[in-house]
Amino acid sequence: MVGNTFQVAIVGLGGMGNWHRELIADVENMEICGSFDIKEERQQFAREHGITPYNSFEEVLQDEKVDIVLCATPNDAHKDIVIRALKAGKHAICEKPATMYSKDFEKMMAVAKECGKLLVVHQNRRWDEDFRTAKKIYDENMLGSMFRIESRVHGSRGIPGDWRQEPEHGGGMLLDWGVHILDQALQMIPYKVSKVYSSFTHVTNELVDDGFTCELTFDNGLIYMLEVGTSNFINLPRWYLLGQNGTAVIEDWDLSGKITRITDWSKNDAVPIRTAAGLTKTMAPRTEETIHTDPLPIVRADVHDYYRNVMDAISGKAEIIVKNDEVLRVLRLMEAIKKSAEDHIVVDFEA
Ligand code: NAD
Repeated sequence: MVGNTFQVAIVGLGGMGNWHRELIADVENMEICGSFDIKEERQQFAREHGITPYNSFEEVLQDEKVDIVLCATPNDAHKDIVIRALKAGKHAICEKPATMYSKDFEKMMAVAKECGKLLVVHQNRRWDEDFRTAKKIYDENMLGSMFRIESRVHGSRGIPGDWRQEPEHGGGMLLDWGVHILDQALQMIPYKVSKVYSSFTHVTNELVDDGFTCELTFDNGLIYMLEVGTSNFINLPRWYLLGQNGTAVIEDWDLSGKITRITDWSKNDAVPIRTAAGLTKTMAPRTEETIHTDPLPIVRADVHDYYRNVMDAISGKAEIIVKNDEVLRVLRLMEAIKKSAEDHIVVDFEA
């Protein structure tokens, strides 16, 4: 601590480490006091951006002014770095996925408890505005009783060409993007997940999944479908939310979309539509007099609040928002998804 400013050392100054550097620059009472990366080019990058790099991880641990070690290395390195930081008397912010296996995270949680230090995982996508907007629609029951939610992220560039392609480093899209959208699902729906059914794709990579589809059945009957795709040249909407009285679509991170709700159930008669080979009344579009379409109830969020909450939790002024038992539940759910996909079975999860 320097004055009343928390000192953060970033370990692993790659893409995400640098994102933290940029964001923390705008957070009052928190500053980056140094960084360490095993690659000399990233040590040089630190110098070029006004950060003095440490010569080794040991040097980070020995520096008494470091309050928080922020671990932004590839996934397989998180456990060791975080445990050593906690044992050296530092608090730890750990990138997601916290670990590749839930057992490892249980160990990290136990060490944090023994050492009396804060361990918090960077589940930053809880601050995504598309998620906040979808959650508001769910929380405020805007569509009536909800029976299905679809949450997708689609890209067409395959897996980025680095450690994310390698199983030993914790590669694959379930661990990479899955952890975010599963965390969002469990934050949104306050029920147990009773059943899990999943499949992986291997379009561009045999060793790790380059996408997955997963269906969760919550024990209130809600079906929640999640999909990550990296060979999708036309994207489906980011969110598709279905309730008994209406439907909402959030097209993308730009928050385009709409919410359409029934206004009059009595005029249910429809003029059949003619398709090339048949006639259908069931699929005939509704007439405007029975429905109303509104813009999305957009919720704004500020991801800097993540860091503010970390400081408040360390100072005892607030409860930590990203709780470790929530992180552990997502890691266990990812293990159930993997089992379902590999064995082609429905897995009972919290039944
Ligand atoms: P990256 O490859 O760009 O950066 C990782 C850096 O860590 C590299 O510079 C590498 O040299 C360094 N490194 C590797 N082992 C190290 C060690 N033992 N000690 C010090 N430095 C080491 O990867 P990235 O995209 O920045 O991902 C890093 C972490 O951030 C991963 O866990 C990833 O899942 C996570 N991530 C999170 C988000 C998010 O939105 N929360 C987004 C992207 C990545």
